[in-house]
Parts: sequence; C-alpha cells; structure tokens
Amino acid sequence: MILPTARLASYQAKFEMDSPKGNRYNPQQIEPKWQEIWAEQQIDRTPAPDDRPKFYALSMFPYPSGNLHMGHVRNYTITDVIARFKRMQGYRVLHPMGWDAFGLPAENAAIQRNTHPAKWTYENIAFMKGQLKPLGFSLDWDCEVTTCSPDYYKWTQWLFLQFFKSGLAYQKEAAVNWDPVDRTVLANEQVDSEGRSWRSGAKVERKLLRQWFLKITDYAEQLLVDLDKLTGWPDRVKVMQANWIGKSVGAYLEFPIVGSIEKIAVFTTRPDTAYGVTYVVLAPEHPLVASVTTIDRVDRVTAFVQSIAQVSELERTAEDKPKRGVATGGKAINPFTGAEIPIWIADYVLFEYGTGAVMGVPAHDHRDFAFAQCYDLPIQTVIVSGQKLEVDRPEESKSAYTESGSIVNSAQFNGMNSIEAKAEMIKFAEEKGFGKARIQYRLRDWLISRQRYWGAPIPIVHCPSCGIVPVPDEQLPVPLPENIELSGRGASPLAQLESWVNVPCPSCGEPAKRETDTMDTFIDSSWYFLRFPDAKNDRQVFDSTQVNDWMPVDQYVGGIEHAILHLLYSRFFTKVLRDRGLLNFDEPFKRLLTQGMVQGLTYTNPHKSGKDKWIPSNLVDPTNPIDPETGEPLETIYTTMSKSKHNGVAPEEAISKYGADTARMFVLFKAPPEKDLEWDDADVEGQSRFLNRVWRLVTDYVESKTETNQTVDKNLRRAIHTAIKEVTEDLTGEYQFNTAISEMMKLSNALQDTKDKTSVTFAEGIKTLLILLAPFSPHIAAELWSQLAYEGYVHTQKWLEFDPEALVVDRITLVIQINGKVRGNIQVPASADKIALEAYARNSEAAQKYLEGKEIKKVIAVPGKLVNFVV
Ligand SMILES: [Zn+2]
Repeated sequence: MILPTARLASYQAKFEMDSPKGNRYNPQQIEPKWQEIWAEQQIDRTPAPDDRPKFYALSMFPYPSGNLHMGHVRNYTITDVIARFKRMQGYRVLHPMGWDAFGLPAENAAIQRNTHPAKWTYENIAFMKGQLKPLGFSLDWDCEVTTCSPDYYKWTQWLFLQFFKSGLAYQKEAAVNWDPVDRTVLANEQVDSEGRSWRSGAKVERKLLRQWFLKITDYAEQLLVDLDKLTGWPDRVKVMQANWIGKSVGAYLEFPIVGSIEKIAVFTTRPDTAYGVTYVVLAPEHPLVASVTTIDRVDRVTAFVQSIAQVSELERTAEDKPKRGVATGGKAINPFTGAEIPIWIADYVLFEYGTGAVMGVPAHDHRDFAFAQCYDLPIQTVIVSGQKLEVDRPEESKSAYTESGSIVNSAQFNGMNSIEAKAEMIKFAEEKGFGKARIQYRLRDWLISRQRYWGAPIPIVHCPSCGIVPVPDEQLPVPLPENIELSGRGASPLAQLESWVNVPCPSCGEPAKRETDTMDTFIDSSWYFLRFPDAKNDRQVFDSTQVNDWMPVDQYVGGIEHAILHLLYSRFFTKVLRDRGLLNFDEPFKRLLTQGMVQGLTYTNPHKSGKDKWIPSNLVDPTNPIDPETGEPLETIYTTMSKSKHNGVAPEEAISKYGADTARMFVLFKAPPEKDLEWDDADVEGQSRFLNRVWRLVTDYVESKTETNQTVDKNLRRAIHTAIKEVTEDLTGEYQFNTAISEMMKLSNALQDTKDKTSVTFAEGIKTLLILLAPFSPHIAAELWSQLAYEGYVHTQKWLEFDPEALVVDRITLVIQINGKVRGNIQVPASADKIALEAYARNSEAAQKYLEGKEIKKVIAVPGKLVNFVV
C-alpha cells in the first residue's frame, strides 16, 4: 500500500505539472488551493453555541475498508451541499466525520496478511482521509471520532454498563454458527450461502453458547409508536422498521398434553381458526420434546433433532424450502373442541421465536396446508367466504383459505364474522382459563456478543463468589491487548490470552476472569452521533448540555441498507440514554435521506458463468461490445459498482480527469438523490462543459469590466430572482439538487445571452450565480469570487433572498369587446396565454355587465391585444 502522505504529494505534484498557462478553467490547480485556504481560515469549524439556530448535518460514517468509492462521494456530496447552504443561510453548522473502525474485515485482513488489525485499520483511515481531501467537503475534522480508539471505546464500554445497570443487558444461551473443523464461532458473514465456513469449508453447525443481549424488546412499543414522529423520514424506511418490530395482536393459548400436567403454549394472530387446529408443532429444541415423545418414536425424533442442529435458521424458514417434520407420538387436547390432536416437531418452528410452538390450522394457513398434505394430517375448514353456512366438500380444496369470512364448524361461534369472532373466542378462552389476549412483537433482543478480537471488550468480570461483576468506571477502558495471535481457529481470541483473562475480582479481590466476548460493532455506531458535539471529552461520555444543544441530527444521509438495524439501534440507544437522564429528546434523526446507489456501465457475457461473465470495460469496444476471448456478443447493463464486475470508477480517477467540482455536480445532477444513478462519462463531460461556461462568463466579465451603468434590465432581473427562489426551494423541502442545477444553468444562459454586460443587473446576476453555485461547486465559486475581487469569501456570504417584485411579469392593457364593440379594458400579465386571457376577460367588470343573461357563441382572444365575445 502506498503511504497516504506520499500518495497525496504525488497527487499535488501531478496537478502542478498539468497546469496550463493563461486564465483557463483548471480545477486541478484551483481545487487544492482552495482546500488549503479553507483549512487555514477554519471555515468548516463548528462554532461555539450562540444565538443563531443550529443545524447538524451528518453522513453515515464509513467503514475504513481502505478505499473510497463513488457511493461515498455521492453520500458526502449531498450532505456537504446541505451543510454549506445552511451555513450561508445563517445557521451554526456541525458537519463532522468519523470512522466505524471495529469489525470483522480488519480481523480477516490481519489473518490473511499476517498484520495487526489496528495497523490495517489506521493505515486505511489515513489513506481514505487522503482520498476525501481533494473532494472539498466542508468537514470539521477537529471532532473526528474513531470507534476502535481507546478514547472512544472506553465510552462504548461505559454505555454498556449503563444498560447493565438498567437491567437492559443480560446473558442467556443462544445459538451460534459453529465451525467444527476450526473449532470456532463464525459471524453470519463468514458463512456462505450453502452454510459452509468461509475458511475451512466445513458445514456450519448450530451450537448453544452463553451470550450477552440488550433488551431492545422492552422498547418495542415506543420504537413503533415514535415512528409517527419521524415526519422527515422516507415512508418506506418507516414501514421497514415497523415490519421489523412486527407487532401483532392475537391470543396466547394453552393446549394440555394428554397424560401430563404440562401444557403447550402457542401464540396466534388467528384465534378465529381455533376449531380448525388439527395438530400442534414444537420447535425441535423445545424442552417438552423429550417428555411428549413416545418410546416407539424416540429414534426417529432424536435423529430429526440432530439433523436440524446442522441447519441454519435462514434455511429452516426459507419460504421456498419444503417443511420437514416428524410425529412425536404424543397427543395434546384442542381446548376448544376437546379433541385429541397429534404433537409434531418441525424445522420451520424456531425456539427463539414466540413460545417455540405453533398450532396447525391447515385449512387456513398456506404453510400448514402444505405440511398437512405432505404428512397426511386432517384438514378442518372453519371459515368460509361470504355468508355460506355449509362447507362445500372440503376434501377437494387445493389450497388454504386465508381470508376472513363466516365461521363454520365452531360450535356457538358458527355464523359469526371471523373478524368479530377473534375477540369472542379470546373472551371464551379467558373464561375457561386456557388463554388470553396478547400482543406479540417479532423483534427479538439484540445479541451483542461476538467471539472475535477486533471489537470493544465487554467490561465484565466473572467471579466464582460474586458472579457477574461490572468493571468499575474508573478502571475503563478495558483495553484490547495488542500482543495477540489471530489464527481464525479455536476459541475466542481473547480467551487464549491468560495474562489478560485472569484478573482479581473488582468486588472481592479473589482470582476471577474477564469476559472474553467483544461487542457487536453496531453498538459503536448506535451512539457515535452523540459523541461528535463533544468529541474530545475525556471525563464523560459527553456533556449533556452540548449534546442536547446540537441534537437531534437535522439531516442524516446514508444508504438504504441501514434502514433497519443501524437506525433502529440508534433510536433504541437514544431512548435508553434519555431514560437514564443523559439526553432530553426522543429521536436522534429528524430528517433522513437514503441516497441511491451509483451504478457503472457493465459488460456481461450471458454464455459465461461465475465471475468470468463480467468483462472489463477496457477490453471492450463500446460501439461493438463483444467478448475479446470468444467473440460472443455482450450484454450492456448498469449495475452497482464492484471490483468483481470491473465496472467501478475510482473517485481519484474522476477528480484527476474532471476535477472535484465536476464530479460533485454530476452526482447531484444525474438523478434525484434517493434514486440510483448511472455513471456516464458523457454526462460528466456535460457538467464539465457547464462549469467551463461559467468560468468563461465570469472571467470575460472580469477582463472587460469597465464602469457599471445603472440601467435595470427587468427581464434579466426576473431570471436572477427566479433562480434564487427556485434553488432555495430545491434546497429546503424535498432536496432536488438536479432541478437546482438546471436553474443555475438557466441563469447562466440568461447572463450569456444578455447584450449589455455592463449593467448593474448583470453585475447582480454574476454575483448571484456564484453564491448559488457555492454549496454545489465550492472551488470554482470561491476562485471566481476572488477573481472578481469581491469582499470576503463566497462561502461566508449571506444566502440570497428573492425579491417578489422582480418576479412580477410586465402587464399590458387588454381590450374587452362584445360583438366587436369596445366595452372596457383591464390590466393583465404580458405573458398570459389565450386560455388565461379569456378567463381574465370573463371576470372583468365590463364582461359581467354586458354578458349578463346572454349566451356566448364564440370567444376570440388575441394575445397582447383583446378578447372579443360574440353573443
Ligand atoms: Zn468476587
């Protein structure tokens, strides 16, 4: 890897080398210059609180993978335009950046390259900072946070202890992915689509381990209800969160086991189908499995349970996979009908979900129907569509009826509407003592234990006498030991380091052992936005006054891939810290923008498979795309940029070719921010041409500038103030950067077409264009501003307000005629078309007076002159 500083130096040298003579637009020359000036002037620094309104603009911070890609460029450009615009509007702005720096890729890279995760991570951060700099983002690097740094994870650990002290962090047994060859726990990302280990290739097993959880389920209802407060969030993100939380209202029912005092508990959202329950199913891990299994079935049940232990949860519940099960021989009683029904176990029932048991209603559930058909279980119809009271030959039904309808075959409930029957049947179950109404959430507690090295150690000591003991605050951080062997094999890496594991108990002083699990990196990113306003605090996690001042984030920008977990966890953290008295707000992110992907031109050979099907574009003639190896015609598509598809455009490539301002303009102009955008060189060049036109327009003006005359050019003034109005609106409501840029192009054309370039209005136009351009294309705007010798910097100018007077179009006198006779006249806008003119004329006093009671046969409108009514 090239050292980042060397890399940057070579970059700068290249700019100088290429710089042409004369006053031509040369982004490679002006961009580094302005980046230096901004840094010196500290124009991007976060101001101390004053009486200006605050604005917190935040991009989702990156993982330091070692390479900045176009998706990052798009994300940070959007946030940067907003931050710069808000500063010019008179807000004090916080626009920070940091690094989501813990996580598995660093550990994997360390194993593969025989280096240390810290070294790999910090080198990547330095390199990516070098890549970010030439893009001219107005970031305040003074409040940078890096989650793998001890001064950050100290507070991650402190926050974990806050959860622990609130009873929101606990340990329980949970299944992990277990590699039986390397004898190690694997993260989900380390298990391939066939359920094999990324490293050993062994079929991954499920194994139960004691692990740490955060009790997010305590906040399920609040996380759901408060979605309504998020009026600045895309609806689809709120729907995804609501579905993830998965609230369902239904019934908790108990099915007695024949010959036992035990009962099987189930949760159902369809109590109205209770009379149609013909079997119950337990998860293979359910503790009742052993006791309900009859002697003759023990071998088959045991074999089934063992086979299921090898299968991942995802595979077990996949919709397209056939469901497998086995009868236990045991029987339960349907408490509604009193009938004895068989107890089965099946792969699709998960012990971690709900009660770990479900009731089987094959007539009214698709999955149960398929299962019953496969294993020849009875199907009992209890709901029919419409008002029918009879069942038409149910044995012939080919699929489950899952809609609502009329209840049949259900004793006293027959004839009831099935929706009303739900409440009635729950009431009945309550009276008889075998059930009750219950709300259930799909959301499960958050498993935060990772048996990995590169994460924040969980600050707990296990003492033989005292049990689980939190590490005292003054002993934080629990440091990650540096001298560690990472092999990817064996137990958790920290567990192998005895000198680190063995510590005296903080409570009794006797020999004890540290917790060896580290925390899920999603914890680091669940609070980083709270650290930025007070990033250097070494006495507390943050100063609440400062955080309450800056929070919530006014505009958050990031990828839709974080629509669920990161945003949900951040909301959960905010609510818990609020309840601990550390924060005074309910929601962390006021407005959310999920930007679309950047896609690259991609060539694929449909006759090839695997990664060979992607053909690098430098081997293809775009006018005749054929496979250089086989001569077969290629398909041309746009798809997400990735190394394996050879379709990426590196940001530094684009910057050295066109400059950062052009790259910024392109990503803003090509598509609305939430839509995917296709990288297209022709369109990039279009933006480059536009900036070149602006450059010529302004530099010509600088050169030819004589005395300014005081003539007011009304048409140009209208163009100027229309641009101010439209661009301001495009940056205020829904962000419409593309139409904002169109408006600037219109203004630039209007200025170009103006004959008198010495008027006071032309001067106003040039100044306006640069101010409007400043958030979008900051370098060229700053450079031209300084060439005009205007005062100060363009970015410290006040944003413009449009003059409504200037927007008023000229008015003309319109003559009103009735049957060719002049009856009056009115003032109308000069630009009014025929339809508008007729409407103005009809409403005129003259027309109302002379047309009363008459039938209009024809209306003749002559724009600019008259309207004649023929009656
Ligand atoms: Zn102790």
